[in-house]
Amino acid sequence: MANKYKILLIEDEINIVNFIKARLEANGYQTIYANGMRDGLMMLMSHCPDLVILDLGLPDADGMEVIRVVRKQSLLPIIVLSARGGEMDKVMALDEGANDYITKPFGTEELLARIRSVFRNQNLIQYGENRSEQYVLGGLQIDFASRQVFKEKKEVHHTHGVQHFSLTC
Ligand code: CA
Repeated sequence: MANKYKILLIEDEINIVNFIKARLEANGYQTIYANGMRDGLMMLMSHCPDLVILDLGLPDADGMEVIRVVRKQSLLPIIVLSARGGEMDKVMALDEGANDYITKPFGTEELLARIRSVFRNQNLIQYGENRSEQYVLGGLQIDFASRQVFKEKKEVHHTHGVQHFSLTC
């Protein structure tokens, strides 16, 4: 049961990574992962995932910071998956722009249902079915196949560091 969605998992606990990865892949999702904020943002830029599952307790940053950085640039769906179960943790993450919040321990069926729900809400199902190789927005032309971005016909390079994070997809 293949679908077209690529999910980036930003999580430092390898057991959880392996567990979620296996479940997502069994359900047809392509899965990539990063074990911290820095690698996560780099993978966002280079792999253009359709959704991020984000742990908050990362080794190099608080996951809340990932939400802030991404939301400055993009409406990319983010589901927080955290051991922090306090109401204020959830409120903060949702107010910063997380689409959903799941506490550990979690059930995989619930996680899968929330992923489907987020994709539905984002109309990404339709987007995925109609995805074309190129996308034009304002003066930007994005070529998904070659991962190139052009601004006024000149290529924009997006392989620089986190400080200059710019989400081009
Ligand atoms: Ca963690």
